[in-house]
Amino acid sequence: MTPDLNISLKPFHFFASEEKSNFFTRIQNENQVEEAVHWCHENNYPFLIIGSGSNILFTKNFTGLIAKMEMMGIKKTNETPSDVTLQVAAGENWHHFVSYCVQKGWGGLENLSLIPGTVGASPIQNIGAYGAQIQECIEHVKAYDTLTQQWINLSNKECGFGYRTSVFKILPNRYIITHVQYILQKQPILKTDYGAIREVLHDKGIKNPSLANVAAAVTQIRTHKLPDPKILGNTGSFFKNPILPKEKYTELEKSFPNIIAHPISDKEYKVAADWLIASCGWKGIRKGNVGCYEKQALVIVSYGIKSGKEVYDFSEEIIHAVQTKFGITLDREINVY
Ligand SMILES: Cc1cc2nc3c(=O)[nH]c(=O)nc-3n(C[C@H](O)[C@H](O)[C@H](O)COP(=O)(O)OP(=O)(O)OC[C@H]3O[C@@H](n4cnc5c(N)ncnc54)[C@H](O)[C@@H]3O)c2cc1C
Repeated sequence: MTPDLNISLKPFHFFASEEKSNFFTRIQNENQVEEAVHWCHENNYPFLIIGSGSNILFTKNFTGLIAKMEMMGIKKTNETPSDVTLQVAAGENWHHFVSYCVQKGWGGLENLSLIPGTVGASPIQNIGAYGAQIQECIEHVKAYDTLTQQWINLSNKECGFGYRTSVFKILPNRYIITHVQYILQKQPILKTDYGAIREVLHDKGIKNPSLANVAAAVTQIRTHKLPDPKILGNTGSFFKNPILPKEKYTELEKSFPNIIAHPISDKEYKVAADWLIASCGWKGIRKGNVGCYEKQALVIVSYGIKSGKEVYDFSEEIIHAVQTKFGITLDREINVY
């Protein structure tokens, strides 16, 4: 393997800051995965696999090898009267894959339309939106274990999925995902309970929505609500919605009766992080080349940053403000390097 040297990372991530990597390569087949990992072991360099860079923040130059996942292919591996199973290579564009399934009439992914990124990254933080999470459709994940240097298949259970997390997020860089096997429904039960989806369908006079109607509604909502990363660099939600024990939430509600949250079990509440941030006065605030998006306080946007450190420092200020006012420590959803 002969990696490229001293490469600017600017084109490879959505914040488009100007950090560099001293080695860079592209992965188009499984042999190249093994070669890249062995090369790093031999040369004692750290390794980082990236997809489209829509959930990454570089705060300094990367000393090691960055490999961009570009393996392609969608293969049907099983079909029954009720479902289809598809093995999809990690470099496939997520939204293209969702659109392909919607066109075929295979349901399960439609609420996750228009999420940027690659198929290989979909299990990492168990991507979720509008009442759906990808864990509901994943059968297993094929990956190269960089520790044991063996190929493995992780079952859905072994992936350890949770809210915006998985074993891949907890053990960063241990597994290089090359394929994800999804199981999709031929007679899907559509998820249209989410308020915004219901409103769009109602406004369009759609009473019995199809898969395509739901995908179009989600696309419309997202286009309206989120900044276009090509115009304003961003990575979607920068923070996770904090999950609080019921007792702590009940105490907080006494002091802040307008707080936005919902129960996720008998014992826990998920609190809207955008409400916490907006309540601290950060929505729409800009400092230098970084800002908190005016329509959605969870999104941090770049107005032309040079270094990801600018975004990181801005996010530290938000964390501090929320901690001071509510006693809650926000957790970053984004992967910081
Ligand atoms: C406008 C916008 C809206 C968004 N909305 C949502 C949303 O609604 N819900 C949601 O969950 N996310 C959302 N995101 C976040 C992001 O789109 C997802 O996390 C996406 O899955 C990241 O894909 P990627 O290919 O860009 O991954 P990258 O950003 O390249 O990588 C993310 C992490 O995954 C790791 N990784 C990537 N590929 C592999 C692989 N093949 N094997 C092992 N590790 C890998 C990387 O090392 C890194 O740690 C949004 C982002 C943007 C910019």
